[in-house]
Amino acid sequence: MTEPESTDERLPAYVIEGARSSRSRCKSCRRSIDKGSLRIGFLIEGPFGTGYLWHHLRCAARRDFGRVEEAYRAEAWNAAKERPKDLPSLEELGRARDEALEKKMARRELPYVEVAPSGRSKCKQCGEIIEKDSLRVVLGRSVEFGRQVRTTPIHVHPRCVAPALAAEDSATETEGFVEALRANSDEPTGGFDGVIGEIGSIGL
Ligand SMILES: [Zn+2]
Ligand SMILES: [Zn+2]
Repeated sequence: MTEPESTDERLPAYVIEGARSSRSRCKSCRRSIDKGSLRIGFLIEGPFGTGYLWHHLRCAARRDFGRVEEAYRAEAWNAAKERPKDLPSLEELGRARDEALEKKMARRELPYVEVAPSGRSKCKQCGEIIEKDSLRVVLGRSVEFGRQVRTTPIHVHPRCVAPALAAEDSATETEGFVEALRANSDEPTGGFDGVIGEIGSIGL
């Protein structure tokens, strides 16, 4: 076997472009990709031929940032028939990926304690801001979706844990709370004692 003499016909591994029709479907979110919206194609060479699997550019960045990085390094927009407009920077896509990761982390086992990564979250119990870099406690709250009841994570101040646990829609057990908190959390700087002291009596 010899290598083909010309690589001209080889398709590039990645294409970034504005979708040329509305017929492609994003392999990440399964929704259709509107004409003109940014998509990235991953080349696949299978037994049934060669072609691209398309993703919304932002979906791909959330799912597989490494490949999007590679496509940016390869300047995959040069493989497009028409150079796409309004291409987000890799940094911007990276931030979207981080946010998605953060959401994923929120699906960890509850309850746990963590450092507030920003000053943007509000305590679900008292409504006040949870300061950046301070410790916040993540509890479960029951929320109805139609006929289903699901547990969704809420953030509260350590001092607000007791009233939050006493709330009717609390989905976190009071019994064994401190043990569960220790087991589910990374040990905060300065240990657990401070935050557990701040939580105080939770009405056992
Ligand atoms: Zn998508
Ligand atoms: Zn609070």
